[in-house]
Amino acid sequence: MIIVFVTLSVILLVFSIKYPWWLPNKKGIVVLMYHHIYNYDSTCNLEKEFYIEPETFEKQIDFLLKHKYTPITLEELEKSYKDNFFKLPKKPVLITFDDGWQDNYTNAYKILKKKNVKANIFIAYNYIGQKNCLTWEQVMEMKNSGLVSFGSHTVTHASLSKLNETEIVNELKESKKFLEEKLSQEINCFAYPKGAGAADEKIRKLVFESGYLFDFSTKRGITSFKYNKKKAINRLYIKQGKSLFSFYLNITKGKDSF
Ligand SMILES: [Zn+2]
Repeated sequence: MIIVFVTLSVILLVFSIKYPWWLPNKKGIVVLMYHHIYNYDSTCNLEKEFYIEPETFEKQIDFLLKHKYTPITLEELEKSYKDNFFKLPKKPVLITFDDGWQDNYTNAYKILKKKNVKANIFIAYNYIGQKNCLTWEQVMEMKNSGLVSFGSHTVTHASLSKLNETEIVNELKESKKFLEEKLSQEINCFAYPKGAGAADEKIRKLVFESGYLFDFSTKRGITSFKYNKKKAINRLYIKQGKSLFSFYLNITKGKDSF
């Protein structure tokens, strides 16, 4: 009996050192970061972890809805900022996709429509119309549905930290201007390609000077409702091959492991 108790205690201890299930839940802006919703195969050119199977994505959406999360758009986040996010639903979640991949329409959007769930795409402007990427027709259809909002992810998907100031400003301003012209709306949100520059004060200053109101990093975590723009908004990178338990830990604790 004692041996069983000791063994179970050791298992629980090891489990608790690895997984933060025992931490208090974090309240704040839960932002999920996806790239591809696609069954990984030999034609895929990014690392496997970027590809979430459509069935897994659907299960994750179901999990959010079952646990009373409300998916919102970037515009809803923007509007509520002035009121300290007071007007947001109790458990807001931003589903975001980076880059502008074709499967965001063919696979993800199909599921979003089926579940009537809102999401957001950070577009690298030059990607649109390229192989495996969204077309402008698809972008417009998603925009007009009211389910999908858009933000900028630069023009060329360059890492901002590798560019000089003029090049950075061009990436920021042109992507904003081009997207605004195409979509006939203001684009106020920006996500750093590969997260590069998100922790650099000089680059962040250029982001805001270029007219953006909110910037999104790839740093793991949940940004508090007391958010004051001093740091970029964190996102939870949802990787291929992880369990729903990992998904639960991410959205409640801001991380799925120590
Ligand atoms: Zn990207």
